[in-house]
Amino acid sequence: MTRPLVWLLACACPVIAWAYSTSSGQAQVSDRARTLHQETLVFDAHVHVVDRQFYHGGDMGQRVEDGQFDLPRAKEGGLDAMFFSLFVTEQYYPARLETKQVLRLIDAAYDQLSKNKDKIELAFTASDVERISKTGKIAAFMDLEGGFDLDGDPAVLRMLYRLGLRSFQLPAHNWANNFADSCCAAAKWHGLNDRGRAVIREANRLGMVINISHGSDETISQAIDVSADPILATHHGLRSFNDIPRTMPDGLLKKLAAKGGVIGFQIGNEFHNVKVFNWRTAHAGKPFWDTTDIGRKEAGMTIEELDKLAGPQFPMVGIAAPDDLKFTPYEWLGVVDRAIELVGEDHVMLGSDFDGGPTLPRGMRDIRDLPMLTEAMLKRGWSEPRIRKFLGGNLLRVVRQVTEKQK
Ligand SMILES: [Zn+2]
Repeated sequence: MTRPLVWLLACACPVIAWAYSTSSGQAQVSDRARTLHQETLVFDAHVHVVDRQFYHGGDMGQRVEDGQFDLPRAKEGGLDAMFFSLFVTEQYYPARLETKQVLRLIDAAYDQLSKNKDKIELAFTASDVERISKTGKIAAFMDLEGGFDLDGDPAVLRMLYRLGLRSFQLPAHNWANNFADSCCAAAKWHGLNDRGRAVIREANRLGMVINISHGSDETISQAIDVSADPILATHHGLRSFNDIPRTMPDGLLKKLAAKGGVIGFQIGNEFHNVKVFNWRTAHAGKPFWDTTDIGRKEAGMTIEELDKLAGPQFPMVGIAAPDDLKFTPYEWLGVVDRAIELVGEDHVMLGSDFDGGPTLPRGMRDIRDLPMLTEAMLKRGWSEPRIRKFLGGNLLRVVRQVTEKQK
């Protein structure tokens, strides 16, 4: 998740909008790329869902004009399955209302799923993902973004499993929680403490996927050591492209891959593209992960007051950075190619973060334009098997390994 700054350049001029739709919209996608994309299992490791409906009402099955995601647009973009990520914002933590908030979001998720039974279905295993996507529906693999909500308690993890969660992000968002340090706040535990190790072991026993995006380098390294299963970094970047704490150094990526893990590439610019990152930081006066100003008045607030505070940031859609600073889809894939050079094609995947704030590559409007990535992969000379691995095969492999092992 990144934070919204759309208002900064809300005057996006019509000329630029026209250029998008004519020079770099869907017309750029060849028949070969479109067919390959449609025939491939597209399984995205990180999509922000439900927050929008929770705060503002509405139905994810209906097309809307703003934001980056709804089910009709996802279908148009060839999406077959996704980590259906529920996100509790930092605002709820100082008041200790985070576990209640995740229950409210799960309730909202079930409401959306039941309203859209013809379009989307909950998946608990890799086989479910395959079965559901073959029916033409989107498979939703329910995931928790923000380890705060667990309170470091394996009992809470077990109950979330019983409610249908099959994946969770170990670190909190951009703060430390009571068992794992985050990328973007002062180290509290120097990685994990005993509670963190216990939560990982319980996830391994239950068959839940562990995601370490938003972790500090120490947290990521220790989680890889402790977990018996491969670990995912669902929405991430490489430090060799942008030296910020939300990205992964080469050595850590090699360690993740050596245990079968996979890194997901956030589809925005700010993780990978220093020019857009610097532009955004200059305009906001702070980097996108800096949420230290949250928490002063929140400690004494009711959950309804917190809803009013948290709601306006959704949906999160990145910034209107100047177009010439942005990576094209081809350039964006250069980051993935660098990871492939380091660890091979079995350890990379898509982790878009749609509606979580990415400033999309040049010419991409929203999830509808995912086929532009497939077009760019062909232009980079990727083989069809490599394209299939990146778009979903590698993620499916890890989900199968974790959710379908013999207990
Ligand atoms: Zn995130």
